[in-house]
Amino acid sequence: MVANAQELEKVATQAKVWTIEDSEKLYRISGWGEPYFAINSAGNVTVSPMGDRGGSLDLYQLIEGLRKRKIGLPILIRFSDILADRIERLNSCFARAIAKYNYPNLYRGVYPIKCNQHRHIVESLVRYGRAYQFGLEVGSKPELMIALALLDSSQDTLLICNGYKDREYIETALLAKKLGHKVIIIIEQLQELDLVIQIREKLQIEPIVGMRAKLSTKGIGRWGGSTGDRAKFGLTVPEILQGVNTLKQANLLSCLQLLHFHIGSQISAIGVIKAAIREASQIYVELAKLGANMQYLDVGGGLAVDYDGSKTNFHASKNYNMQNYANDIVAEIKEACEQRQVNAPIIVSESGRAIASHQSVLIFDVLATSEISGDLPSPPEEKEHLIIRNLWDTYQSIDAQNYQEAYNDAIQFKDEAISLFNFGYLDLKQRARAEQLYWSCCQRINQIIQTQEYVPDDLEDLAKNLASIYYINLSIFQSAPDTWAIDQLFPIMPIHRLNQEPTSRGILADLTCDSDGKIDQFIDLWDVKPVLELHPFQGDNYYLGMFLVGAYQEIMGNLHNLFGDINVVHIQMTPQGYQIEHVVKGDTIKEVLSYVQYDAENLIETLRHSTEKAVREKRLTLSEAQLLLENYENSLRSYTYLS
Ligand SMILES: *Cc1c(COP(=O)(O)O)cnc(C)c1O
Repeated sequence: MVANAQELEKVATQAKVWTIEDSEKLYRISGWGEPYFAINSAGNVTVSPMGDRGGSLDLYQLIEGLRKRKIGLPILIRFSDILADRIERLNSCFARAIAKYNYPNLYRGVYPIKCNQHRHIVESLVRYGRAYQFGLEVGSKPELMIALALLDSSQDTLLICNGYKDREYIETALLAKKLGHKVIIIIEQLQELDLVIQIREKLQIEPIVGMRAKLSTKGIGRWGGSTGDRAKFGLTVPEILQGVNTLKQANLLSCLQLLHFHIGSQISAIGVIKAAIREASQIYVELAKLGANMQYLDVGGGLAVDYDGSKTNFHASKNYNMQNYANDIVAEIKEACEQRQVNAPIIVSESGRAIASHQSVLIFDVLATSEISGDLPSPPEEKEHLIIRNLWDTYQSIDAQNYQEAYNDAIQFKDEAISLFNFGYLDLKQRARAEQLYWSCCQRINQIIQTQEYVPDDLEDLAKNLASIYYINLSIFQSAPDTWAIDQLFPIMPIHRLNQEPTSRGILADLTCDSDGKIDQFIDLWDVKPVLELHPFQGDNYYLGMFLVGAYQEIMGNLHNLFGDINVVHIQMTPQGYQIEHVVKGDTIKEVLSYVQYDAENLIETLRHSTEKAVREKRLTLSEAQLLLENYENSLRSYTYLS
């Protein structure tokens, strides 16, 4: 028999083997991951921490190696070479922009510590930043204390002091000038200026003062409220003028050397950045004209990360690259200063997210899955309840013409079946049958939908409802809190099996007993998708990676359900391959309990008393008591996640 063309084509598509190129396209890895992440011929994710300039490693094999060293999942891996590469890139972009526009001054970046304060990271930053005189920005007293201890005072690097300040903060900052640090105190509120003037009087140390402006340029997205008259931070233009007068009266106008602004994080549209720079540049030249000794224009943070790789102004993306960013800043400032014949300032930026995100990869394993049975239903017997026969008929009738109508019928019959059950007309077995038939209808309809170009709105939730649940060994509240708090999207994908087709569709559910502890929004070229393509879980190791998580997630993470800090491993490339630079062990149960004031010894003692009592009353044998105490003590010493 001769098969028709349609059948032949069907056979051909079925036979087409899944390739790593298919996985690349599906997970958009080059969109968000270049030049650091890719897929190798074995179907594993590879990491090239030095971008195009150095070696790469197989992430799956790295994890297997760490597990052999008894470092359990979940693990956060930090690649210090990526950090170095990000600093290098940012500085090169500004260097190129300065050359391109013949800009007559320098760029001096600073890293905002709040983005990720961990010691190993700040130490690496200071080390890699030295070549560029890359400084630090602090937003609180504790952060100032980190900066004072880590920053090299013999270099001409900046230490920018933001945040609300008390007397002690300002005194410490001023005294640090005497250590050789180039400290700039940014005035966020006018009262701080009075304090600065008093403390200068007392210590006889000349401060360098900056003013943080509340721009009227509208921000965008999640942090859009960081600008405008009612923003939390900074001075309005009348307040800036008042500050200038105060300084003038104190004969300190020469101390005012910097103008600062920050219009929020993850600014996805370059137009917004340009508008802000334009406004700030005008304020800058005006301040210079008023007699302030202006030297620096600090453009804050906001340089975005392309989490979905779409290169759009969608909140998880950005419609510009780092070079465009540097070019626009340099060009706008130059133009404004030239027009008004004011000396061009040293340009300062405070990129956190764009520096710190790429270095960290979060790896976690799948513990189990729950899926809707794909078993084909059996036909009803003659005397089965009418509602079940109706569902069966619906199931039988589904085709490409009537699937929407069939879907509505199936819903209606299922709802009726549940009412019948509630009134006692269906038994539990019949209800189970009705539900199964309903799911079979949904699955069949879903198969048809996959082949359709247009899907009616009311059917869009179908794929979501049919998705498998992948239970993951992770607390999103601890390790990716922004996915929960602000619907932040991070790229998520398996780190192996990428030469196999991911035939399942799933959402991720974490370990916490919180219905919010799930991820059901994933990056896509257009908007977001409600399910992620995953491989069928076979009960063995299946590792997923969440990428670009190096900014803000760790410090914002919380102890929901007492899942603690996770294991962190620092990897550094060497000429031979790579080495483990540091291992920072995650919290043990004993440690998280101590954060909520439980003392492990007391707990053990209490349990010992109750086992003794139970043994005396013969409710527990001695060996059972022993086993219980042993487990309890072992648990106290163990990782809070599942092993
Ligand atoms: C948070 C913050 C930054 C960092 O912003 P990113 O968007 O992460 O670059 C910079 N400056 C100030 C004042 C901040 O508060």
